[in-house]
Amino acid sequence: MVREKKRLVFVGGGHAHLYSLKHAHRFPPLGVETTLIAPSRHHYYSGMGPGMLSGTYEPEQIRFDVKALIESGGGDFVKGKVDSIDPEKRMLILESGERIDYDFVSFNVGSRVVLEGISGAKDFAFAVKPIENLENIRKAVLDTMRKGAPKICVIGGGPAGVELAGNIWRLVQENQGRADIAVVNSGDRLLPAFHQRARRLARKSLTKRGIRILDNFRVQSIDRKAVVSRSDTRLDCDVAVLATGVVPPTIFARSGLRTSEDGALLVSAYLQSVEYPEIFGGGDCITVEGHPFRRIGVYAVRQAPILFQNLLSYRTARPVKPFRSRRNYGLIMNMGDGRGIYAGKYLVWSGRLAFRLKHRIDTRFMSQFRLP
Ligand SMILES: Cc1cc2nc3c(=O)[nH]c(=O)nc-3n(C[C@H](O)[C@H](O)[C@H](O)COP(=O)(O)OP(=O)(O)OC[C@H]3O[C@@H](n4cnc5c(N)ncnc54)[C@H](O)[C@@H]3O)c2cc1C
Repeated sequence: MVREKKRLVFVGGGHAHLYSLKHAHRFPPLGVETTLIAPSRHHYYSGMGPGMLSGTYEPEQIRFDVKALIESGGGDFVKGKVDSIDPEKRMLILESGERIDYDFVSFNVGSRVVLEGISGAKDFAFAVKPIENLENIRKAVLDTMRKGAPKICVIGGGPAGVELAGNIWRLVQENQGRADIAVVNSGDRLLPAFHQRARRLARKSLTKRGIRILDNFRVQSIDRKAVVSRSDTRLDCDVAVLATGVVPPTIFARSGLRTSEDGALLVSAYLQSVEYPEIFGGGDCITVEGHPFRRIGVYAVRQAPILFQNLLSYRTARPVKPFRSRRNYGLIMNMGDGRGIYAGKYLVWSGRLAFRLKHRIDTRFMSQFRLP
């Protein structure tokens, strides 16, 4: 029996799509043509991003060639960004104006750093996402170092802010420079969502290297020379880095799809839109109705094989599987001094071994999605 051809479009080549892209060759035998739409042929792995900033890794070591992945499975690559969706017509509208039809579609378009609420953020600060921005931060630090000892301000005291501060320190050391590095934090503690031992270890690791931590400093504006708090304290700053947390993109809300309060595509446990079963999604851009997960890469990676299975099942009319995940996970932070901090729910430890373990896990993950 000849099946009618269907078109599956992957939007974004993020962590939740890597597994499907690697196994894209499974779709054509089912009469499915695949297309990936992404702004670049490369997707950067966030876990190794801070290491790229410091120079521990080269950009080529931390990125996946998603164009090569989809093409090796017989699919097409379209360079571009999806701007909106017409779910009734099953059509994607790209920023370029191009329109692409789908029979079923999967979104993995990630999240963006919140810039709203801090005036000047767009013009005078570097956001930590997309991860490729970390290359621009590296260049800006090296440029300003040529003129003296720059003042660098990392805004945000979560894991990304902590890792970036530690890795900017390393970048400066490796280049025999000097810099005044500060982490400003709107609350009264670093890593508020973590075990108190992780908080203590992170603070100690940064302060012993001379990195200043300014608590209760809620940034209200950024200009060419300084970051300014709500209480009008000015902190001189040559390079400002924003690691203030992420929100999903506005595509879904603008397209009239059902979303969670923060604008993420609202999906069922099957990673399918609660309104349109032909729309799937994974990673930071979705919220599982009734079971929201933290927006971290761990969940995007755990969703990846389920998303793939469900896309296959959708085509073959087999039952789809629910995504159920443990709520616990361990993060290893790369502190930039050759050491890591492992922060689990109950277990926290630090040292060189923690960084080596992270390096091993990360490089193994990368190698899974490399073509020979
Ligand atoms: C510095 C830093 C370090 C981190 N370290 C860790 C860690 O160690 N462990 C961890 O679990 N989490 C970590 N995170 C969090 C992690 O980055 C995110 O949770 C993870 O990237 C989410 O994966 P994703 O695939 O949903 O999105 P992303 O990784 O953001 O991928 C989305 C992809 O979609 C593409 N895209 C975006 N918009 C469009 C569009 N409109 N059309 C088409 N394509 C589009 C992008 O180019 C990108 O390739 C870190 C975050 C930062 C900032």
